[in-house]
Amino acid sequence: MPSPRPPYSLGVDLGGTKILEGVFDSEFNCIGQAKLRTKPERGFDAVVERVARCARDAVDECDMTLKQIAGLGIGAPGAVNTVDGRVIFAPNLDWKDVPLKADLEKQLGLPVFVQNDCKLNALGVFEAEFKSKPRNLIGIFLGTGIGAGIFIDGRPYSGLNGSAGEIGHMVLDIHGPECGCGNRGCFEALASRRAIFRDIQQAVKKGQSTLLTDMLGPDLADLRSGDLRKAIRRGDKFVEQIIDQAAEYTGIACGNLINLFNPEIIVLGGGVIEQLEHEMLPIIDKVARKHALPGTAKGIQVVATGLGDNAGITGGAVLVKRELK
Ligand SMILES: [Zn+2]
Repeated sequence: MPSPRPPYSLGVDLGGTKILEGVFDSEFNCIGQAKLRTKPERGFDAVVERVARCARDAVDECDMTLKQIAGLGIGAPGAVNTVDGRVIFAPNLDWKDVPLKADLEKQLGLPVFVQNDCKLNALGVFEAEFKSKPRNLIGIFLGTGIGAGIFIDGRPYSGLNGSAGEIGHMVLDIHGPECGCGNRGCFEALASRRAIFRDIQQAVKKGQSTLLTDMLGPDLADLRSGDLRKAIRRGDKFVEQIIDQAAEYTGIACGNLINLFNPEIIVLGGGVIEQLEHEMLPIIDKVARKHALPGTAKGIQVVATGLGDNAGITGGAVLVKRELK
């Protein structure tokens, strides 16, 4: 008789700056975590080695061994082939077509499953956060970039080539700033952390005064989303106006999605929302309803995820459970 599958799994959130890993039980409770800097400049092999090391640390944190882990689910910031587990393109890591699944499996001796980071976040939110089990849900994640995961009739929707959910490249202003994808005025070029920081830095260069320069120095070295919240709460009207604008674009995107999908719930997450939920969510909700056709947004919830930073690692654990079923 085959031995029963180990009850625990590892979830990994692989970002451009940090690796976050968690050990989960079969109910998706996180029972231990570890964190490590990504250091992508050292190259793919070194990052894989760091992900493996962080996995061992997280398991050790729980006084367990890798033998008790059924598998590892990892979200990578970019385009992913979920079948062979290769990362096709991840600009923040400077990766092009790398065998993430195969190399991690070699390092850890565990089954590894790879997904796009925002889709993995959405999977975590869909499965572990909403016990009411909505049938139609869209999760939007605002970080360095912007991405989403879409659930239709209770199932993740990935499209013909697996790329559905690239909401960051929904054009919201055809005369807007250039996006990394080559188009102009994409949602991501208007409301991601990178876009917000760009707007602030450009204005400061032109002489705009802000509390941020008092806090961080004239070149705003090491600016983080949390600094924006601090500045706004100390009365910085300039930063408030920049964040209001990002929230307004996010609301327009949500309004478009309500018109397209009429989902039960739109869930917002990612580092920007994690730090600025209180400032942004009321505007996002109001603008979304204004842009939805009259009457169509009734009963639709626009909320921030309660999983916060743990959405990605939770999604990793959910992915393992789904794949090994
Ligand atoms: Zn774009």
